[in-house]
Amino acid sequence: MKSEKDGRRLRFALIGGGPGSFIGSVHRIAAELDREIELVAGAFSSDNARSAEAGAVFRVDPARAYPDVATMLRAEAVRPDGIDFVTIATPNHHHLPAARAALEAGIAVMSDKPATATLEEARELADIVAGADVPYALTYTYSGYPLVREARARVADGAIGRVTKVIVEYPQGWLATATDSKQAAWRLDPKRAGPGGCIADIGVHAFHLAEFVTGLRVTQLLADLGSVVPGRALDDDCQLLLRFENGARGALLASQIMIGERNGLRLRIHGDRGGIDWRQETPNMLVVHHSDGRTELVQAGDASLGADATARLRTPGGHPEGYLEAFANLYRDFAMLLRGGKAPLLPGIADGLRGMALIETAVHASRDESGWAPLIV
Ligand code: NAD
Repeated sequence: MKSEKDGRRLRFALIGGGPGSFIGSVHRIAAELDREIELVAGAFSSDNARSAEAGAVFRVDPARAYPDVATMLRAEAVRPDGIDFVTIATPNHHHLPAARAALEAGIAVMSDKPATATLEEARELADIVAGADVPYALTYTYSGYPLVREARARVADGAIGRVTKVIVEYPQGWLATATDSKQAAWRLDPKRAGPGGCIADIGVHAFHLAEFVTGLRVTQLLADLGSVVPGRALDDDCQLLLRFENGARGALLASQIMIGERNGLRLRIHGDRGGIDWRQETPNMLVVHHSDGRTELVQAGDASLGADATARLRTPGGHPEGYLEAFANLYRDFAMLLRGGKAPLLPGIADGLRGMALIETAVHASRDESGWAPLIV
């Protein structure tokens, strides 16, 4: 069926991404990478002057740098060239109100993670998404890497046999000492981050990656979360033991107090016939262990890559690509959804709900020292 969107770029507005922010400009670059999508508007900050300042940097029409989300949605609705979707890149407590306002106005949503600040909010959002007739998706970035897609496809094809062990670790060191950075301030404030600190910021990425690549759900967890730096209201160091639906055991480590670690996300999955090992800091390589003792190094651009991974590469073999392109792959899938196609691997509200359930189950189980806790969405 022909759509009005055929043959033109999709138009989007950024919510967040104001001066000095971290992830907003990454969304702008990634969304525009394939020339499928363009940034035309935004409510870039809760402060009007700073929203206008960001609009000028992003080269959007000054009339389309709005003071707030409600004003933007009203103004864009009456333009013949109004927005097709919003990207939400604000602190967590603003995800639900922004997503609700957009979806109720008939505007699609690409949201950064975690889905919301709390599990209760995520359940409310899931109802809104279920009643909306436009797409909602989540930027669990690491699911966009080509070699993560390759790992997922190989595990699904039985390359490592039955999954028996999953180790996912996400160490960082940037919060090892007290800091007054803008990014740290809201992440350590329960009113803006929600009940989880490190577990909500990066633990949830590690959790999604483990479930995404194994294709298995975590059913139970045993959590030990702590605040290492004195005076913090939220966790900065987390360890979880995991049990998966097929009986496999696993562990998730997420920490922001490990000096020397930058963004050391690593996933190891072992099965009864082999294993795989992927690291975010060397994203174009996937190590595959075979049961006969051979270790295979799979690299981006190799002829042995499957169709899904190959379709997601933008540079020839040996030429680095990574984080921006992983985000861009999520935007490519989202554009496909908006044009009426299918994108079954794009994270959505079901993944958002599982992430929020992980955060709250881990926070409560660790605080109450209640032992193994069922993971209930
Ligand atoms: P940040 O503090 O650097 O930026 C947040 C921006 O939102 C700022 O420009 C702020 O002015 C703006 N903002 C706040 N309230 C607003 C409102 N009501 N209306 C409009 N703008 C508002 O934060 P960040 O590090 O960029 O993180 C933002 C979100 O992205 C968080 O939810 C975080 O978890 C997520 N994130 C995801 C990834 C990833 O890899 N997917 C990486 C980093 C951050």
